[in-house]
Amino acid sequence: MIALYMNRRDYENDIRSLLMAFFYGDKIVLNAKEWDVCLDVRYTDNYTSLSLKDNKGQCLEKEGDCHFEDYRLGRNDIKNLVYHILSEYTGMTLPWGTLTGIRPTKLPMEMYEKGASKGDAIRYLKETYLVSDEKAELCAVVAENEAEVLKNCDYDHTFSLYVGIPFCPSICAYCSFSSYPLLVWEKQVDNYLDALCKEIEAASTMMGDRKLLTFYMGGGTPTSLSALQMDRLLTCLEKYFDLDHVSEKTVEAGRPDSITEDKLQVLRKHRIDRISINPQTMNQETLDLIGRRHTTEEVKKAFHMARKAGFTNINMDLIAGLPGETGRHMQRTMDEIVNLAPDSVTVHSLALKRAAFLNQNREQFPVAGADEVNRMIGISHEGALAIGAEPYYLYRQKNIAGNLENVGYARKGCEGLYNILIMEEKQTILALGAGASSKFVFNSGDGHRIERVENVKSVKDYIERIDEMIDRKKKFLLKSENSF
Ligand code: SF4
Repeated sequence: MIALYMNRRDYENDIRSLLMAFFYGDKIVLNAKEWDVCLDVRYTDNYTSLSLKDNKGQCLEKEGDCHFEDYRLGRNDIKNLVYHILSEYTGMTLPWGTLTGIRPTKLPMEMYEKGASKGDAIRYLKETYLVSDEKAELCAVVAENEAEVLKNCDYDHTFSLYVGIPFCPSICAYCSFSSYPLLVWEKQVDNYLDALCKEIEAASTMMGDRKLLTFYMGGGTPTSLSALQMDRLLTCLEKYFDLDHVSEKTVEAGRPDSITEDKLQVLRKHRIDRISINPQTMNQETLDLIGRRHTTEEVKKAFHMARKAGFTNINMDLIAGLPGETGRHMQRTMDEIVNLAPDSVTVHSLALKRAAFLNQNREQFPVAGADEVNRMIGISHEGALAIGAEPYYLYRQKNIAGNLENVGYARKGCEGLYNILIMEEKQTILALGAGASSKFVFNSGDGHRIERVENVKSVKDYIERIDEMIDRKKKFLLKSENSF
């Protein structure tokens, strides 16, 4: 257990994030009486002193001036001091230095908007936030590519549409989404689609004059639906939304074991232009361990089937740091991916979310440390470059080993615009289905702000309370009519 003592609480979350990154998986408790390591942080208006002790008698101290007159400067100063004491104690450095937020690319993006160069951005990330050479370069390149994709985006007069299908062929051990196993819920799928179609019809009049820019069907696993059900859903969407003029239509097919030729034909018929087939790893023993219940051969088969059906923009999702995996496994995965040559690859670092089966049964699922996961990320980076893809979006999540990152790579023109929009939070996303969370972005009046309207998570509640879900959005929009 790690104890944290502070004389003031204004920077508590920032300090906690660093402690979590250095002591991955340990519990951090404020004012704990018993501990393995104890960090005591004292600060006045312009000065900070730190002391770190452990239960073996080791003790370190640090002090320094801090510019607390400016919140952002003060935060950087105190985080730098905390970083140095933790780094000295553990002998570790963090690839992202003191940067703990989820969107590191925001910093270079802001600098580019003011005319700074890539070199300026890299220098700033390294000097101010102690980011490693490799991650500073990655961050600056992603921000450049992201800005290029977004340059003609009219956020205020467009919106994106998300539709969620919360069913999956089986539940993966690391899953933290509200996903329902198809075998148990099969009888409810048509009732779910009835409710969803009702919500689609009602939602079609909610956005006024705004034009639909991107459409994304995610989950769960959308291709858990039968070909007939998928056809019904896409026909309903086309009836109420102008899908013909959107910039991007994605269906996250997801699990290869749910992809069939007739479903791919339905997607083609409705002119879906981007799909995702997600292996996560190309190591069979890992797939078996994490409960994916499909084979690596099925991944290849689904991919070739999709190519044959005419899909020219296929993404594949991978996870670095799955249980039992090391760099060697990632190398094998990337060799297979390079052979398949998808148009984009998204590499996630394993996030150990509290509710996930994997996290609650950690002894069954040994995971690699942060350095090894970072090595795996490096291997995936090289593999992505080998298929001609470049990094174009990047974000971080809580509970990732070593505070690492998720990166989307794509060949030019195959970037997932929706993926960037959802991270940037500059455009309204109307989200339909169980557990879907709509994000309404307000850019007028009192500045930029985001408000969320959430649907219930449970499929049963969603079906039973669909009228209430529709009313929730309607009431919210009525209340915000003048500012939205
Ligand atoms: S496919 Fe995705 S949503 Fe479905 S169980 Fe696995 S991790 Fe969860």
